[in-house]
Amino acid sequence: MKETGRVPAGTPSGFFTAVLARRKTTERRAGRAPRKGADVKKAYRALSRTEILEYLEEPWESFHTGLLQEAKETHRRENGDRLIASAMLGFDNICRNQCLYCGMRAGNVAIPRYRMEPEEILSLFSAAAKTGLTRAFLISGEDPKFGFDRLCRLVSDLKRNGAAHVSLACGEFEKAQFAELRAAGADEYVLKFEMAQEEVFNRLNPSTDFRRRMRAIESIRELGIPLASGDIVGYPGQTLSMLAEDIDRMRELEISWAPVIPYMPAANTPLAAEGGPGNVEWIWRTIALLRVMMPGVRITAGQPGRDLREGLAGREGNLAALAAGADLLFADLLPASRAADFRVVDNRILAGLDHIREIARESGMRLVL
Ligand code: SF4
Repeated sequence: MKETGRVPAGTPSGFFTAVLARRKTTERRAGRAPRKGADVKKAYRALSRTEILEYLEEPWESFHTGLLQEAKETHRRENGDRLIASAMLGFDNICRNQCLYCGMRAGNVAIPRYRMEPEEILSLFSAAAKTGLTRAFLISGEDPKFGFDRLCRLVSDLKRNGAAHVSLACGEFEKAQFAELRAAGADEYVLKFEMAQEEVFNRLNPSTDFRRRMRAIESIRELGIPLASGDIVGYPGQTLSMLAEDIDRMRELEISWAPVIPYMPAANTPLAAEGGPGNVEWIWRTIALLRVMMPGVRITAGQPGRDLREGLAGREGNLAALAAGADLLFADLLPASRAADFRVVDNRILAGLDHIREIARESGMRLVL
């Protein structure tokens, strides 16, 4: 194991720093304290699994005028109607796993593979910092050859350069490794449980297993690392009762961020042969339920609309998710030449900060960089 020291609190120097310093000055002048991260333990509405299911089954019209409006109102009241923008980079699309729904599964020989060098990754985040983005989300396939020590150094370098918040989604690790990532400065780790039903998970994720996944998730929690986790919504064979169990599991895990998206069939994957895309109404209901149950949680607003060809950056899908209580959009840093290769889902369309600003303007929400 490598030796890493936790990045010391203090004054960081680097590409994110100038942005943060400017922001603090502005907030001081405006007479308000800089906002800290969302408090995920804010007052919540306790819903039993049965009640969650009732809301999932409720006719759309009454759900729309009832819980969906309550969710948006909760977000306005508890979080000041913030819309958080974060930089995101899929830095490595090589994966040893075989998840049946994922276009990046090892068995898919149809996509070109790449592994970025740390210098390139840092340079892309440096460019993002110049546009005002201070949050970083690093995502990759499970690629042991990237090197765990290099990953820790990368996190440490981002923090040393003043990144305000670094989230990582790089697959399953041992508890000691999660501790090293934390020591290197990781603020949050993303590990989805995908589905709360053990037998379904084991069928759709044949290169790992449910107990191992949940042990990894528990390790993250035991270390006190904020956990981002969630499910896939509307994959072939999922019922509303199973979705209710997933939503309840997110509550039990006290997640910091719900990276939920609907199922979208990816080319050359086994699950694509079993059925079509998930119903987008299911994701809007999921978002609204999560918001009323966990007011402070961040929820992905990069959602598809009814036209899946627009991918996760379509105007309709993003605005609908925000109207249901979501609050997080990503500026994708991937160079256009590689956009189609980071193919967890098909129809990947690169959206940048301009797109997020436009969505913030249209939705009337308060943009937080
Ligand atoms: S979902 Fe993640 S772990 Fe599974 S194949 Fe895709 S990239 Fe790999």
